[in-house]
Amino acid sequence: MRSPLRSFAARLLLCLCLVALSFGSAYNGRPKLIVVVVVDQLRGDYLERYRDQFGDGGFRLLLDHGAYFTECNYNYANTCTAPGHATLLTGAYSSGHGIHANEWWDPLKKRMVTAVQDDGTKLVGAAGNAPGASPHNLLADTLGDELKLATQGKARVFAIALKDRAAILPAGFSGDGAYWIDQKTGLWVTSTYYRTELPKWAQDFNNSKRTEKYLNKEWKDGNGHTLRTTGPQTSKNALPAGFYDDVGSTPFANDYELEFARELVLYEKLGSGPATDLLVISLSANDILGHQAGPDSAEVQAMTLATDRQLADFFNFLGHQIGLANIWIALSSDHGIASLPSVAAKLRVPAVNFSADKLRAKINQILSDKLSPTRPVEYVKGLNYPMAWLSEDAFATVRMKEEDAERAVGEALKQIGLRGYYTRFRLAKGDVPNTETGLKYENSYSPLGGWYVIGVPAPYTVGLTSETDHVSPYTYDTHVPLAFYGLPFLPGTYRTHAEPVDLAVTFASLLGINAPTHAIGRVLTEALAPAHRAEHSIHEEIDWGGHGFSRAAVPPVFPGALARDVRSADRVAGADQEPASTLTSAAKALSDSAVSARTKSCPPRPAAISGASR
Ligand SMILES: [Zn+2]
Repeated sequence: MRSPLRSFAARLLLCLCLVALSFGSAYNGRPKLIVVVVVDQLRGDYLERYRDQFGDGGFRLLLDHGAYFTECNYNYANTCTAPGHATLLTGAYSSGHGIHANEWWDPLKKRMVTAVQDDGTKLVGAAGNAPGASPHNLLADTLGDELKLATQGKARVFAIALKDRAAILPAGFSGDGAYWIDQKTGLWVTSTYYRTELPKWAQDFNNSKRTEKYLNKEWKDGNGHTLRTTGPQTSKNALPAGFYDDVGSTPFANDYELEFARELVLYEKLGSGPATDLLVISLSANDILGHQAGPDSAEVQAMTLATDRQLADFFNFLGHQIGLANIWIALSSDHGIASLPSVAAKLRVPAVNFSADKLRAKINQILSDKLSPTRPVEYVKGLNYPMAWLSEDAFATVRMKEEDAERAVGEALKQIGLRGYYTRFRLAKGDVPNTETGLKYENSYSPLGGWYVIGVPAPYTVGLTSETDHVSPYTYDTHVPLAFYGLPFLPGTYRTHAEPVDLAVTFASLLGINAPTHAIGRVLTEALAPAHRAEHSIHEEIDWGGHGFSRAAVPPVFPGALARDVRSADRVAGADQEPASTLTSAAKALSDSAVSARTKSCPPRPAAISGASR
């Protein structure tokens, strides 16, 4: 028979182990690995909408065993891929990190350039002499950079995505590798910014012809109905479309990406170094499909459920390789998406599709009629609805300075139906109304991109002739999930205010390193297990009298009755968390770790003048 003293000692040991395991510090390699999963265009309501259809271990690893923030919104208006990915890892908005669009007009080069294209580099892994890409436009550093600085480079930082911008911006300046695909062939590439040739494992991956197994396949839903096939398609110019278009809008593209991620984890030995490593995986396929099919389609539902299973397999793989107790995971997205205008209009919600190309022609006609009636001039060089990029040269010929030129374009935008506009000139001076909306546009400002105007669109107006889009200040574009899994997090559903800028700041705090240079997020203390909260909050805010109970004062162990009291207090405070499950999930994570010990082993289109690449 076991003595009470011995069982007490065993329990004490377990508690001490839990505390030791949950202590995070980048310097001593705890956790061994942080994985940030960005699902491109995973709108904030999807996880609730499909929650009862998810299996175990995928999204529900975070929803049921992690800290899930249901009310996370970007607090800016330029909700698209490059700004979103920069925001998540810098903890800042465009006004801090400088990335305010996927592409913009370069007044020196006199053409549209992408957020990451860098003519001083070359692509690596692709045939030809194409220009490469780098984070050279970033004006702030990232979580990965701070990890690198804090550990004198011992931490290793990688990011992958199908899209270049979604890999490069999260990897920061000091990333060991950013990998994305060549759209034509589907082969993985990087740029000379990172290295002069692909690592052997990535070369082997490309040489193994793995793209072929995803071509000419049928994607079926749970009932066996064929949703799409990945047969060769033709692009707008009647040429073969290539891997990105043929496969990119199906779950096979995520399979392909996660296959690459597994090899990266294995061959780069992530999670086995002396410091905490960071891996960012941005799943691009969800965005490619979402634009075409719309958020309310059976296809997006099937894609989301497929992503759930794919993530479950990937998390399982990480559990076996590294042990889930040694990993912190975050899940979020770069932006949401508007309903398809045709779907919204059927419900009598005002919504419309139109051509951004025609809109730009119309604006130039309005401006030409007013400023140079004898000749048509291209005053607006690019329109990624609702952002307009101006030609400084064209306005110089009619002797207009920036302030007047941008106002003229803004008025033309209003004339064709936009609700308002913000000029770069005004944004640079911080000249915005002191309102919630004004702040969103202030946060959207960047000194990059020459002269520009950000139009304020009417809701559900989409600058594409069919399909749907994002890039608005409205909730359907700003609302994204934010969820964490790992020992420092108190499992529960949190309905408190959260923003994507909180992700990097919370991780930095838990790791004991500096937040990224321009970070403005807050540490999500309400979701942290007691060991990770500020000391003073435990001592000062506690009030056991029943009034003014502070969530920051949750004690480390919950007897059943007290846990129930805390839960009801939390509901009042807006949080619906289940502190009692902390121990269970920590214990589960521990047993996962034991298992592991036993088994150890919006596409970047060409720089188009008009249109969108989200
Ligand atoms: Zn997009």
